[in-house]
Amino acid sequence: MIFIHLREGKLAKKRTILIQGGKIVLGQIVAKQDILIQGDKIRAIGNLKGHKADQLFDAEGLLVLPGAVDTHVHFNDKFMNTISVHDYDTGTRAAAFGGVTSIVDFSNQIPGKPLIQTIEAKKEEAKGKAIVDWGVHPVITKPTTKILKEIPLLVQRGAPTIKCYMTYRSEGLMVGDKDLRRIMEALKNAGGMLLVHAEDNDTIEKNVPRMIEEGLTAPIYHARSRPPDSEAMAIQRCIQLARETQARLFIVHMASALGVELVGQTRGDGYDVIAETCTHYLIFTDRMLERDDGIKWICSPPLRNPMIQEKLWKGVRDGRISMVTSDDAAYSWAAKLCGADRFDKCPNGIPGIEVRLPLLYSEGVAKGRISLPRLVELISTHPALLFGLAPQKGTLTPGADADIVLFDPRAQWTMNQESLHMATDWSAYENIPTTGKITKVFSRGDLIIDGDRCLARKGRGRYLHRKLDFSVRTSV
Ligand SMILES: [Zn+2]
Repeated sequence: MIFIHLREGKLAKKRTILIQGGKIVLGQIVAKQDILIQGDKIRAIGNLKGHKADQLFDAEGLLVLPGAVDTHVHFNDKFMNTISVHDYDTGTRAAAFGGVTSIVDFSNQIPGKPLIQTIEAKKEEAKGKAIVDWGVHPVITKPTTKILKEIPLLVQRGAPTIKCYMTYRSEGLMVGDKDLRRIMEALKNAGGMLLVHAEDNDTIEKNVPRMIEEGLTAPIYHARSRPPDSEAMAIQRCIQLARETQARLFIVHMASALGVELVGQTRGDGYDVIAETCTHYLIFTDRMLERDDGIKWICSPPLRNPMIQEKLWKGVRDGRISMVTSDDAAYSWAAKLCGADRFDKCPNGIPGIEVRLPLLYSEGVAKGRISLPRLVELISTHPALLFGLAPQKGTLTPGADADIVLFDPRAQWTMNQESLHMATDWSAYENIPTTGKITKVFSRGDLIIDGDRCLARKGRGRYLHRKLDFSVRTSV
């Protein structure tokens, strides 16, 4: 076990916390160890029995996990005539309740405005509000030559991960393949990574008006209008660009079996292509869209059939899918209701920032689909490593930020709107029997969640200045 010699005198002034007797996850090892926090950092891990500290926490019977890192959230997101209800106050609060101590949010370029404003805008939004640490992925919507020249500056300012959409033309978000290639090249030269929302726009633009005309307006037709093949087609195209440019490519919210295969093959061929999926694809299938309240589960890519869901779990297990994020997109019920009679008018998105850790434990670890160390990789270690936050975040290591979750693996509870803390007036996660519950959350040594109470001071969250490490390649 890792142990750093403690020099009492030099460090005497900083507050110390000892978390005793919990089972900690360190890489592939799960072992009973104590953790000493000093100030905002983890100071030591080992058998620290008898060591004095300002505060003691008994973690007997609990799991001690690194704070979760969610690199896919949409706060204050203006989309489909509405805005997400999670801002830096409500969104980071719900994150904290879900054991998430770092988030990275998307910030759309306003056409005609400099890209650097995407970071400045989020600094304004977070000021005096953020409870946990936060970073920014700029989203390019109009890739002019001038905008591309700004990419090195964004990398310098700690936002080296830029997202583009291959669809949502009518929302003004779509970027064509030629421009994707230029952006990939610019990012490669600057030390950045392109994140792609991969769905084939032509297929969707052909299907949606046809279905509406035929009166096929129910929520399930949202899924039928954007079939798995349209996702796979787009994934294939952007993978081809990654092969040609040799740039690092990250496929967000992958939800197709063919996508898993394509990513596996490409990685096997030695190219730097990485994929994530999201909680809801592992928990729900497209059957939810057939319910009367099916609009709750309208998201893009859509939920898939049980066979595809099984393939996604397989990819999560065997490493072709490197991580799982929430894609938190929290629209109000009134906004979702715009889609009551027309699936194409429903804002696409599911609020989920709080549920990822407990649900992936309950449905993944407790049901034997993934190991506990794999869960930690998927939601903490890999997002931190791949998005430029390691070793500060995502791992329990002396010297890392003391972002720690205490988790009771035996607790049984029912997940629903009442037991969650997200700001939406509805929940997609209704009456789900859940095994395992977060009991305490520390962020940089501060106890921010204690049972059902949030103790964090608003505005304590810090901007995460990120730098990618290209020597890091998660295993296939
Ligand atoms: Zn998203």
